Amino acid sequence: MTERDTGAMRQRLEQLRAELRTGRENLPAGEDSEIADVGAGQHNADAATDTFIRERNLALQGNADDILAQIDAALRRYDAGTYGVCERCGRLIGAERLEALPYTAFCIECARERAGSQ
Ligand SMILES: [Zn+2]
Repeated sequence: MTERDTGAMRQRLEQLRAELRTGRENLPAGEDSEIADVGAGQHNADAATDTFIRERNLALQGNADDILAQIDAALRRYDAGTYGVCERCGRLIGAERLEALPYTAFCIECARERAGSQ
């Protein structure tokens, strides 16, 4: 049962990684061509929109990169046989938490402590 469950979770991680990679590639390219089209002529309005879009993309992109890095780390833990074990305290991460955040490296207690200390 444990083996079947972890195998399914690995598939989920790989699927999530593929989706994030696709989204990351699509987003900036689409926005860039849009900016190029409206960029000539209306400088003031476009400058504000342009800045907003760039900031939003950076946030999305930064977040996606961050999650991708966590997914890669989770897949490495899979290969090492330590997936689902908290990196901080060594206890098992709850099934519900792994269901919601399959790439997390910390149990809920450690995640809360880390968030509080930062
Ligand atoms: Zn922990």
